[in-house]
Amino acid sequence: MSDRLPGFSTLAVHAGAQPDPTTGARATPIYQTTSFVFNDADHAASLFGLQAFGNIYTRIGNPTNAVLEERVAALEGGTAALAVASGHAAQVVVLQQLLQPGDEFIAARKLYGGSINQFTHAFKSFGWNVVWADTDDIASFERAVTPRTKTIFIESIANPGGSITDIEAISTVARKAGVPLIVDNTLASPYLIRPIDHGADIVVHSLTKFLGGHGNSIGGIIVDAGTFDWSTGGKYPMLSEPRPEYHGIRLQETFGNFAFAIACRVLGLRDLGPALSPFNAFMILTGIETLPLRMQKHCDNAKAVAEFLAGHPAVASVSYAGLASDKYNQLARKYAPKGAGAVFTFSLKGGYDAGVSLVEKLQLFSHLANVGDTRSLVIHPASTTHSQLDDAAKVRSGAGPDVVRLSIGIEDKEDLIADLEQALGA
Ligand SMILES: *Cc1c(COP(=O)(O)O)cnc(C)c1O
Repeated sequence: MSDRLPGFSTLAVHAGAQPDPTTGARATPIYQTTSFVFNDADHAASLFGLQAFGNIYTRIGNPTNAVLEERVAALEGGTAALAVASGHAAQVVVLQQLLQPGDEFIAARKLYGGSINQFTHAFKSFGWNVVWADTDDIASFERAVTPRTKTIFIESIANPGGSITDIEAISTVARKAGVPLIVDNTLASPYLIRPIDHGADIVVHSLTKFLGGHGNSIGGIIVDAGTFDWSTGGKYPMLSEPRPEYHGIRLQETFGNFAFAIACRVLGLRDLGPALSPFNAFMILTGIETLPLRMQKHCDNAKAVAEFLAGHPAVASVSYAGLASDKYNQLARKYAPKGAGAVFTFSLKGGYDAGVSLVEKLQLFSHLANVGDTRSLVIHPASTTHSQLDDAAKVRSGAGPDVVRLSIGIEDKEDLIADLEQALGA
């Protein structure tokens, strides 16, 4: 073996996987089992007491899922990861380790519509209070910090408008406030942006999107950067204080730079229960093998489509950070030099009605509520994903009534442009 560290594409195919020790199977098997036999009573006791690593029950861990966890941790440059049932489950599990009832967290206003909903309504019933800030105004994050602030949550490339977030600037605010920075890296994937390299302490993903990549499996993952010191000031008792669930062990003291991933597994996943099916883990692992190839094609196609739309007389504006004229182009060059992602919005001169009509006339684009599929997708956010927001909030989050969102797939770009041309022109 050479001393060379494996590159991104090599990790995408190999990280975490070994030929199966009993059968020699080269592809990672689907360990479709609920539970695992203990060697003896002592072995069982040590697994339950966290004195040994091993499989107990698939709600807590599974060998197929473990390969996925190791692979995504390697791609993101983290110390460990935990796969869960969905992107939303990842967000719940992460925040449960960080917040007590009555605590606050700061979140960027430009977020996936489902996250805005989850933070505003579901988390309120847990006593977790969201305070919104604006990624175009870094000082708004500083102003939002209070003694009850426990974390900051942003997206690297933000849904739905595809804007690029200045991760380093917000990580400086988090560091000063003494709280970890969580980055939802779903729209970028680690192929385009690795938030940990820019100061993120925790990365979350909806695996449902570009990582799985084929629109066939829901999943989520949490990556621990291993960078945050959880022992400071008793602010994070789940990590720093003796845990009654595990004979009084302190997770940070015992597990060091992967304590957060352990907390998510043994306190979050074990007790809240959103386990990922090993079958979905297998589908997503297969998707990740081609992530670098797909992501580059997604981005190249998106740029060509955005350029076409920018020159079309029916289009009022295109919001794609990969365009030289875009307000986020500087940030895109810094954070995502290989491409600015494949999800972006544009607005039509004909407003709401033109948006609805376009969506109905498109033939190759599928009209549905997802992003990051091999297939090209289209949606009108104001009447769907962001419909729960009031008009001002819609505009603030980039989903005004005239806005159409595209997720560009890996088809031939000429076919995508031809479909848009017929739908816009007719
Ligand atoms: C889809 C999505 C989520 C939620 O993920 P699910 O797998 O649907 O639960 C969170 N954040 C972003 C940016 C997303 O696109």
